[in-house]
Amino acid sequence: QSTPKPPPSPSPLRNAKFFQANMRILVTGGAGFIGSHLVDKLMENEKNEVIVADNYFTGSKDNLKKWIGHPRFELIRHDVTEPLLIEVDQIYHLACPASPIFYKHNPVKTIKTNVIGTLNMLGLAKRVGARILLTSTSEVYGDPLIHPQTESYWGNVNPIGVRSCYDEGKRVAETLMFDYHRQHGIEIRIARIFNTYGPRMNIDDGRVVSNFIAQAIRNDPLTVQAPGTQTRSFCYVSDMVDGLIRLMQGDNTGPINIGNPGEFTMLELAENVKELINPKLEIIMVENTPDDPRQRKPDISKAKELLGWEPKVKLRDGLPLMEDDFRARLGVLKS
Ligand code: NAD
Ligand code: UDP
Ligand code: UDP
Repeated sequence: QSTPKPPPSPSPLRNAKFFQANMRILVTGGAGFIGSHLVDKLMENEKNEVIVADNYFTGSKDNLKKWIGHPRFELIRHDVTEPLLIEVDQIYHLACPASPIFYKHNPVKTIKTNVIGTLNMLGLAKRVGARILLTSTSEVYGDPLIHPQTESYWGNVNPIGVRSCYDEGKRVAETLMFDYHRQHGIEIRIARIFNTYGPRMNIDDGRVVSNFIAQAIRNDPLTVQAPGTQTRSFCYVSDMVDGLIRLMQGDNTGPINIGNPGEFTMLELAENVKELINPKLEIIMVENTPDDPRQRKPDISKAKELLGWEPKVKLRDGLPLMEDDFRARLGVLKS
């Protein structure tokens, strides 16, 4: 009786690994907000070995402290703009600052991280035959002219603005992913992530949910950037991680929108935070930054159909979980 042959694969190394029990997974940017929650989830599966590569620009070892020293976990201080030579089966490529204040701080570095960083991770995926998932962004739609945004929309992006290092950077990263897929047969997955929030966001991260929660706990006015009618759709981080893992494990390359379609104006968000944390808070209008998208809401039909995924946590249920985490970190108990 003949033994069954392994299925054909572009890489002999991957074939060999097919029969190994463990899956070795690289998470770039794993010390950051979404990355560290992803690592927690991946580590729950005893067959996974997780390697994090991070340069700690916006992430921190603190986010991973429960795994440091664990036999299935490894943390490497590494900048993805430099080559990385390791052996892995899957790559979740998240490394890139996500908050506008951080990605605008050193825009040349941001675009290098998106372009050279993604090129290096694709080179690694090609060498070892790994499947690679890119966390792209709703920013590839720019200031969108169609609403809600579907994956087939090509976007309305300013190529020379102050946000371009991030949104054009991610657009090139998506192009590189598809070119490696077409030219070298690399297995790719692209998630277009919409605004995500939850515990472990940097307290002074500059993004709207973290700003409002920190301001509310400190009894500071909530700073709504003008005009306040601009909209965003906020996804709780556990839903996001679930969507990313489903995308990696499924058969579809994407791009697939992953986000929560519940849409709020920034004034509505401020009212929600005020009501939840302290009804006496003041809401003030402050100046906005250039090129701020006026509306954003994902069409998640594709994620529902192809991944069987949709978000479960409503904003009203997610905000209190974030408040608890921020209170603990700021050392301010609920009065
Ligand atoms: P984050 O800033 O908390 O995490 C990014 C991580 O990448 C940090 O740990 C940082 O130190 C690391 N990093 C940055 N540059 C690096 C480099 N050159 N080499 C190695 N590591 C580097 O951000 P996040 O919110 O967790 O976002 C994670 C990913 O999801 C990013 O790719 C981001 O573009 C994408 N995304 C996030 C959101 C969101 O709302 N949070 C929305 C759309 C897309
Ligand atoms: N690369 C990497 N790790 C690897 C293999 C490649 O970081 O295990 C980098 C490599 O340094 C190169 C990039 O990925 O800059 C693209 O690699 P590829 O082999 O596709 O292209 P080439 O090296 O031929 O330019
Ligand atoms: N924003 C705000 N107050 C703040 C920070 C941000 O009103 O303190 C607004 C900002 O103008 C934008 C929205 O909130 O319209 C989302 O901004 P964020 O930086 O969180 O994410 P992104 O612009 O990348 O979606």
